[in-house]
Amino acid sequence: MTMEKRPNQATLCIHGGWQPGNGEPRQVPIYQSTTFKYGNTEEMAMLFDLKKAGYFYTRLANPTSDAAAQKICALEGGVGALLTSSGQSANFFAVFNICEAGGHIVVSKEIYGGTYNLFGVTLPKLGIECTFIDQDATEEEIQKAIRPNTKLIFGETISNPGVRVLDIEKMARVAHRNGIPLVVDNTFATPINCRPFDFGADIVTHSTTKYLDGHGTQVGGAVVDSGNFDWDAHADKFPGLTQPDDSYHGLVYTKAFGKLAYITKAVAQLMRDLGATPAPFNAFLVNLGIETLHLRMARHCENAQKIAEFLDEDPRVAWVNYPGLPGSRDRALAQKYLPGGSCGVVGLGLKQADRATAAKFMDALRLVTIATHVADARTCVLHPASHTHRQLSDEQLREAGIAPDFIRLSVGIEDAADLIEDIKQALDRI
Ligand code: PLP
Repeated sequence: MTMEKRPNQATLCIHGGWQPGNGEPRQVPIYQSTTFKYGNTEEMAMLFDLKKAGYFYTRLANPTSDAAAQKICALEGGVGALLTSSGQSANFFAVFNICEAGGHIVVSKEIYGGTYNLFGVTLPKLGIECTFIDQDATEEEIQKAIRPNTKLIFGETISNPGVRVLDIEKMARVAHRNGIPLVVDNTFATPINCRPFDFGADIVTHSTTKYLDGHGTQVGGAVVDSGNFDWDAHADKFPGLTQPDDSYHGLVYTKAFGKLAYITKAVAQLMRDLGATPAPFNAFLVNLGIETLHLRMARHCENAQKIAEFLDEDPRVAWVNYPGLPGSRDRALAQKYLPGGSCGVVGLGLKQADRATAAKFMDALRLVTIATHVADARTCVLHPASHTHRQLSDEQLREAGIAPDFIRLSVGIEDAADLIEDIKQALDRI
């Protein structure tokens, strides 16, 4: 984009990542090709040695995926980004890129269940230990969780499903005091509502499956590097970036790529070896989805605010959790980190708190659908105690941090009055 100043988010949603020349397609093409042609051995060899940038095999890089990655990168204000085949692989890559067997990570308890499982169950099988912390804890308390082998702190800007807001600056202070980066999953806020790099986060991840795509068409993820963390200043903690990589002829990422060291290693090593590559068509869908992200997020937030306020007033509803409500415990954090709005996800509990009543309420909904998904154009609802966590007793649910009466409503971009009418008639039937 040939603009003097950094374009605003709405402009980047449309133009970021793909600037066609004369006679080239206006929309990013789907480069549905595994491989790319070269005329001589030397050119191809330079690519393999990471001495020249270029496409040679879609597992490592593909122009459609790169366009979408560059758009996300521009929106987050980073220096480099990588698309992955899911949000799960994005979070795995973000950690595994700088933490291997013998390492340790500090993670907020308030995170998506799949990530909780990945970090708490699967990473230990690879020799990586994880300590879960209360994100409301003081800096001194969080400090106690840090060990000499701790490689990063991780949290979600807005947590799924609790809709809690992360104090990014507090987390970044603790991380940086200990010479480690802060990794933030920005899936629910999206760069429209929060840019974690502005508050000191070093790496951002996304499940692009959610708002970035926005239409529920593909599963994908992204890792974005701010380029701000000084790996060389803490070289002993991050040998993978600061010591020679034998699988690349002794190349040292920080020396060869400077601010792009982290993201280049993620592509060159992890994508090469683990291969969690998105299909070019999925990258196209993410790119297309982001073109309207700025419009959709505003509508998601507007609708969610109206619905949260309606629910808050309804005598049959026991509690509502939405950062935009004046009574929200995260109100101050939301005003600081999410001044333009938070997201479309609202948590609620009915006064009649049993599983049967939650099921009755949800079954009575007509426009709002029951779905495991969140964060797309269609409003949907999920009761973890009846669905994703149905095998757990109420006691076990509480231990897992999920209230048995918790209902997650993901507010879409339909007409708010229609949604409220549907919710009201369902409440009338419980
Ligand atoms: N991060 C967050 C905040 C999520 O909500 C999810 C999925 O719901 C993930 C990561 C995992 O993403 P995916 O389902 O795309 O693998």
